[in-house]
Amino acid sequence: MAASVMEIDLHIHTTASDGTMSPTAVVRYAKEKGLRAIAITDHDTVEGIAEGLREGGKLGLEVIPGVELSVDFPKGTMHLLGYYIDHTCAELLDKLTIVQGARAERNLKMIEKLRGLGIEIELSEVKEAPEHGQIGRPHFAYALVQKGHAQNIQDAFERYLRKGGPAYAEKFKFSPEKAMSVVHKAGGITVLAHPFTLNQPQQKDLEDVIVELKAQGLDGIETYYPEHSEGQTKLYRSLAQKHGLVLTGGSDFHGFNKDEVDIGEGYGDMALSHNLLDELQARREARLRGL
Ligand code: AMP
Ligand code: ZN
Ligand code: FE
Ligand code: FE
Repeated sequence: MAASVMEIDLHIHTTASDGTMSPTAVVRYAKEKGLRAIAITDHDTVEGIAEGLREGGKLGLEVIPGVELSVDFPKGTMHLLGYYIDHTCAELLDKLTIVQGARAERNLKMIEKLRGLGIEIELSEVKEAPEHGQIGRPHFAYALVQKGHAQNIQDAFERYLRKGGPAYAEKFKFSPEKAMSVVHKAGGITVLAHPFTLNQPQQKDLEDVIVELKAQGLDGIETYYPEHSEGQTKLYRSLAQKHGLVLTGGSDFHGFNKDEVDIGEGYGDMALSHNLLDELQARREARLRGL
């Protein structure tokens, strides 16, 4: 994709959310694979950051503190990545506490919906999933498989948990604008994650969304991503360049929860150069200088 040498991966989940490897294990694994830098980007939490930074310091691997925020976008799924955030920023932590509360409420709703479908699952059983940071749909999927209601994780999503599926429940989310302002207040920069999930097949519609986000503070677009076709990658790259947004990329590694995707290389054809990170850093410095 972007380069022939695999140097960085800017989208990684740990056990702080729904990955299966602890921050320490993720950093060690990335180091073993020869990566120079990774970003830890758990869903709606920064609880894995301190541990990841510590291990990165020990091993000499650059760890970028990040977060992946689910934000309100009724037409599709919008995730915003924050990079170089101060993971101790009080306002950031305060907003994360709000979304974590919303997640807990939503989990109870999903338990009710499953009960309505004749499936009895207790919250304690969802927590028995092999990892339990921020409890979410992957944990429900695991419990459904364990109890014989689905053949595998993917099947559990298709049958019950996909957006609009019979056991799916919405949860409160911040607007993209609010989420981006929180990331900026925490000293970070904002990147639109995996744009294909916005579900905007018309280029014009996608561009309109990006232009609006840019006006609200968007800094970059996650262009390199395992699920993106060559055509999508090209389109996202050209939109980023046209609108003065930085390019990023990452595997969205989740460990065994998504075991076909490997750290640093996605499905095997991703290889991101450290140059991408230099641009991200330049952007961050410009933000900090108030440009
Ligand atoms: P949640 O934040 O609880 O809504 O769960 C979102 C997580 O579910 C993301 O990490 C996705 O990787 C995972 N996910 C969403 N759709 C699917 C799917 N069809 N198959 C497997 N995992 C999925
Ligand atoms: Zn996830
Ligand atoms: Fe995501
Ligand atoms: Fe992700």
